[in-house]
Amino acid sequence: MKSGPIELMQGDITEMATDAIVNPSNTSLVLGAGVSGAIAAKGGDAIQIEMSKIGQCPVGDAVVTGAGNLKARYVIHAVGPRMGEGNEDNKLHMATLASLKRAEELKIQSISFPAISTGVFGFPVDRCAAIMLSTALDHFAREENQSLRRIVFCLFTKGDLDVFINTLKWLKPDM
Ligand code: ADP
Repeated sequence: MKSGPIELMQGDITEMATDAIVNPSNTSLVLGAGVSGAIAAKGGDAIQIEMSKIGQCPVGDAVVTGAGNLKARYVIHAVGPRMGEGNEDNKLHMATLASLKRAEELKIQSISFPAISTGVFGFPVDRCAAIMLSTALDHFAREENQSLRRIVFCLFTKGDLDVFINTLKWLKPDM
């Protein structure tokens, strides 16, 4: 589904050829399971080596590395909340916002997001969709953001895609 600059699709984010893809990372910036396991497997060692040089990233923030052998040029490592640690909604908003800020700083035109925190970190998909989509819509409403032209949400399952589609229709009935 395409609604202006926001696109929703089902797929494997490691296959995306957008300028950047977002890795749902952890504070110690170690590639592990889920999306980051797939990034490690397909992208090669260069990404983890660069992440280890950076060392740490707080919850709600994001850091940039190259993308190794992936089709994207950059990986933006965003640290979302673990369910149960508190203040999760705001932390997910901040992690999404920080990723978009990194993309603007890189002056790139396209970025793909997974549903941050909804795998190993246990955050509910419907709340994730509402927070990430409203943050993305707000990005395009702000004049200072001049670089990004496309924000893609690449969801792993049909069920998650349907949640994102319904949430976008609810947030933006006119789209
Ligand atoms: P977190 O630790 O932030 O929860 P995960 O990587 O475990 O991150 O999961 C985040 C979301 O990404 C989950 O909804 C999961 O189903 C989905 N996911 C897992 N692998 C992929 C992939 N290759 N491409 C896109 N989404 C994926």
